[in-house]
Amino acid sequence: MSNTPIKKEVGQIVVLSAPSGAGKTTLARKLERSVTHVHFSTSHTTRPPRPGEVNGKDYFFVDLERFIHLMQAGEFVEYATVHGNYYGTSARHLREAVAEGKTILLDIDCQGAFQIKEKFPESILIFILPPSIKELRERIMKRGKDDEDTIKIRLENALGEIAQYHRFDYVIVNENFDVAYRELESILIARKLQEQVKVPLAELMHI
Ligand code: 5GP
Repeated sequence: MSNTPIKKEVGQIVVLSAPSGAGKTTLARKLERSVTHVHFSTSHTTRPPRPGEVNGKDYFFVDLERFIHLMQAGEFVEYATVHGNYYGTSARHLREAVAEGKTILLDIDCQGAFQIKEKFPESILIFILPPSIKELRERIMKRGKDDEDTIKIRLENALGEIAQYHRFDYVIVNENFDVAYRELESILIARKLQEQVKVPLAELMHI
């Protein structure tokens, strides 16, 4: 038994994507509070902070010049422009978390999700769908955070993203929050249990 080869413990990358208005942020916030083995990645963005957002927690808020500098220095494992602003995931933070065996959750858009899948084929991509286009439109308008032009851009982008749903590993339809949350949590729990085959036996049970 002691000679059984154990694969090096390797963390998991979980990507959560959704068109705006699908309820992804609320789901992600609940996950952050409830599922302790999951760590959240903090992205860099050129978008100005919204009221209540904290630099270094919600995002690292940087100006365009700084973002481009980081991008050219290869600091981002993926980056994209979303609704006219740049967003990117720090390569160093992600690789460190994976090397430490952590499960890290990226709340990023579809373009970023596919870049991650290409670089980390074992990452899992989860897509959240709104229950209907009508509901999507209403949710985007109700957010009340954005002006009319932004709402229009968000709607167009949302429809483009929805068309990509078949490229994800899992799809959750967020019709009922509690059900959608349970489904999301189930994926993460199942993946954790799957990863346990790589953990030395002495860490799993008393031997
Ligand atoms: P918001 O500005 O509303 O916080 O985010 C807008 C969109 O950008 C969301 O879909 C969010 O998931 C995505 N996003 C946030 N951080 C990143 C990132 O680092 N990379 C990419 N590709 N998208 C991101």
